[in-house]
Amino acid sequence: MDYRALTDYLEQNKAHYEKNAKTSLLVSFRIGGTADIALYPGTEGEFSDILKISRENGYKYAVLGNGTNSYFCDGNYGGAVIVTSRLNRIYTDGDMLVAECGASLSECAKVAMEKGLCGMEFVFGIPGSVGGAVCMNASAFGASVSDILSESKVFDTEKNKTYVLGAKEHDYGIKRSVFSENKNLAVIESKFRLCKGDKEAIRAKMSEFFIKRSTSQPLDFPSAGSVFKRPRGQFASKLIDEAGLKGLTLGGASVSEKHAGFIINTKDATAKDLRRLIEIIKIIVKQKSGADLEEEIIYME
Ligand SMILES: Cc1cc2nc3c(=O)[nH]c(=O)nc-3n(C[C@H](O)[C@H](O)[C@H](O)COP(=O)(O)OP(=O)(O)OC[C@H]3O[C@@H](n4cnc5c(N)ncnc54)[C@H](O)[C@@H]3O)c2cc1C
Repeated sequence: MDYRALTDYLEQNKAHYEKNAKTSLLVSFRIGGTADIALYPGTEGEFSDILKISRENGYKYAVLGNGTNSYFCDGNYGGAVIVTSRLNRIYTDGDMLVAECGASLSECAKVAMEKGLCGMEFVFGIPGSVGGAVCMNASAFGASVSDILSESKVFDTEKNKTYVLGAKEHDYGIKRSVFSENKNLAVIESKFRLCKGDKEAIRAKMSEFFIKRSTSQPLDFPSAGSVFKRPRGQFASKLIDEAGLKGLTLGGASVSEKHAGFIINTKDATAKDLRRLIEIIKIIVKQKSGADLEEEIIYME
């Protein structure tokens, strides 16, 4: 595929793109092969134009935030990867924090803290973007994005227009949302309803969460965080640990000794290593505890 319609548009608008991009560099797992083209829209207009052109020309595409919950196939992902990292504006409006889809979650938490707004402390240290967190309903320390989300501005490639989705229309569940099944929808920006709080208390909570993360998670290895969703009433990491799977290794992919919910890339892991390890974990956990583990991480093939 020559992506002429896209590259013509990108050249005209002096937008940033890269052909034969290494997908391993776009995801925190550092696993993958290449993508035909990676695109980095710098404005909301460019983002929706790129989505529209891709749809109209039948190009396969994926929207990627910070790539901390996703991984690509080992060979060529025969499509375009639209990376949102340049759409990173954050501002507050009264008790609302508004952020573009590519904004860093930790930066949002810092802006909220500086403005004395509480409710966003739990996202501090989650390495993803706002778009990824809104799609995945990111959660930590007993709180979820669905608790604070007010609305999102989205671009719909089927309707070919931009509109606002209210909180309920996000159809949230555990690590899922309306975006999980409707790939025609892309998050442009989201608004979060926060409340007034004490800046120093907010700062203290953020640093407490940060310390908890650094002591419990294997942050010295590439990973995509917890691989499996939390089964109702249980913890995936506990089930994996109790099944005796800590340290289980396939190629370069290993179940972390520090946190059994994480698979880490210890040395040049491939998507094939990772997928086989995931299948083995699911089978053994099912045998030992009867629980069905479901993946949280997204495979882009
Ligand atoms: C060390 C580590 C710790 C982690 N800790 C946590 C944690 O505590 N809690 C937690 O919930 N997660 C955690 N994660 C996982 C991950 O950081 C979060 O799920 C995060 O919200 C994903 O954001 P992202 O931008 O990296 O998403 P990506 O991996 O880029 O994308 C995830 C999904 O969202 C879609 N998407 C992204 N942006 C858009 C958009 N603008 N429009 C439409 N679709 C979009 C992608 O297509 C993909 O399907 C952790 C990951 C790591 C590596």
